[in-house]
Amino acid sequence: LNAPSSRTEGIGELYDSDASLPKHAPAVASYTLRARLDPQRHTVEGEGTITWRNASSVPQRELWVHLYLNAFENERTVFLRTPHTGFRGRSRAGSGSIDVTRFEVRQMGNVWPTSPTTPGDPNDRTDIRVALPREVEPDETIQIDVAWTAHLPVITLRTGYSDSFHMVAQWFPKLARLEPDGRWAHFPFHPFSEFYADYGAYDVAIDVPEPFVVGATGAIEEETRAEGRVVRRYRQADVHDFAFAAWDHFEEKTAVVGDVTLRCLYPRGFDAAAETELDAAKFGLGHFGARYGRYPYETLTIVHPPPGAEEAGGMEYPTLITTGGAWYAPFIGVHELDIVTIHELAHQWFYGLVGTNEHAYPFLDEGITSYAELEAMEARFPNSSIASTLGARIGLPAVYRAGAVGAVAHHGPIARAASEFATGGDYAKLVYFRTATLLTTFERVYGSELVQRAIGRYARQYRYAHPGPEELLQVIGEVMGSEAEDELRQALFAEGWVDYSVDDLRSEPRSTRGRWGGEVLVRRMGTLRFPVDIDLQGADGSVQRVRWTGEDGATRISYQGTSRLIGAVVDPEHRVMLDDRLDNNARAVSSSLYGPRVLEVGAFFSALGLSVLAP
Ligand SMILES: [Zn+2]
Repeated sequence: LNAPSSRTEGIGELYDSDASLPKHAPAVASYTLRARLDPQRHTVEGEGTITWRNASSVPQRELWVHLYLNAFENERTVFLRTPHTGFRGRSRAGSGSIDVTRFEVRQMGNVWPTSPTTPGDPNDRTDIRVALPREVEPDETIQIDVAWTAHLPVITLRTGYSDSFHMVAQWFPKLARLEPDGRWAHFPFHPFSEFYADYGAYDVAIDVPEPFVVGATGAIEEETRAEGRVVRRYRQADVHDFAFAAWDHFEEKTAVVGDVTLRCLYPRGFDAAAETELDAAKFGLGHFGARYGRYPYETLTIVHPPPGAEEAGGMEYPTLITTGGAWYAPFIGVHELDIVTIHELAHQWFYGLVGTNEHAYPFLDEGITSYAELEAMEARFPNSSIASTLGARIGLPAVYRAGAVGAVAHHGPIARAASEFATGGDYAKLVYFRTATLLTTFERVYGSELVQRAIGRYARQYRYAHPGPEELLQVIGEVMGSEAEDELRQALFAEGWVDYSVDDLRSEPRSTRGRWGGEVLVRRMGTLRFPVDIDLQGADGSVQRVRWTGEDGATRISYQGTSRLIGAVVDPEHRVMLDDRLDNNARAVSSSLYGPRVLEVGAFFSALGLSVLAP
């Protein structure tokens, strides 16, 4: 099911509908855990059993275990020593860690190393190799009894506490994913990186003081109260992570869409925000379900963190998303909560259900999610603008374009590991904005139905199957043809860019009275090629539209008309959103002709200097 070995035409069509969706994920790494929250000490005492199957074809003498909270234990960890300006998250060292006190493989004994560190990096303890006394054969299952204490950090990137609010994420010893060829996909926790894990079944009992309301991955099975504490047991199969929020001040609203129970947990005074988020999620479950395959879970929990805990917002976990957060898009001002909710919900597909390697290829996670978010926002608020400034109305695609073009395009390829981006700004702009702008360009050039069918087929075909970039490219090729596949490959892997310009324009009277001739020189610079329209405008108001494939880098277009040729615009409907510069797309005999129209989107936003959006 993972990497198809050959390209078989026609097979993919099966995945244009939900009929062939797999019912369940292969259960590879399952966790039965008990977590006791101490909200005064901000610790979680954990214990339980991990059941792991060697799903690769190679016997294994080792396991790899992520201890993500150790990223916050000192200033010298990979996470904290890497400058991450331009991206979300401020972290305080010394306030987060995880101590594993038991790691016993049944019939093998305690296998936890005595002083575990990330290989070759004594300052980091987020990526731990555990040697086994004997091989685990392919398809063999082992059980590991674990116990640990998680010290939650002051709320930082995604996780931690703020007063009595606790966002408990990346909180237990987490097995890395073993690829089918027997290689472990493991990595130290890097500030630009998210996660990667195998699917399994989670059964987690969460023990909190009586007044605490809990929102967690999965559906609640039972609730027992004793001695001022309450234990709630949550179960969820077919997921690759588990997170929960606990707070003694949550308000709650619920809703039902089809088979899914939605629950929004939020701070007092945020009722309107909660309604907006529930409405957005209801819309999104239907919209994304139709586009990318049915949402297979019974619950969706939305957590709106309280003021002071905004950094916990704008994050995705299986069946649980977090919203809000003024840091997210302060300049947008319109539909902000819709955007965050829709974005995080889209992650249930592009992250949750496909299970891509977020460290190796963050664009498959955040980039495709940003595209899905744009597409859904345009569907939910047709022809709406999200900002209105200086008389120009700006749509969300234009905002993302502004963060995606120009010099950014030359800051390296999109398709690479999170740790390979030089700055947080490069990461956010290339992974989020440029990927979304690239797929939006594909929609406008090749047709939105084709792109939607391709991404829908990809999402269904690789549900629970951990696809990589080649699987995406193959589906694009199947649905949209080899030209589109080649352009996408170039754009993802090779710093592909494009800039169309009208470089010359002249016009003179013909010998026949009342007839004019002329010529326009149009260029395509860069390595990407998209077909474009070129409008030739006559002094009498006439417009002649000419199509150009973009081949050969330049074309001379001759003009015949009944009035003088006074202007030309390449790509007048602005389909090529990736076009590096818009100010050279038009040329006129009189400079006032196109100024405001062509410049409205591009110039305004390049002058604005976008703050970074990176949920
Ligand atoms: Zn995201």
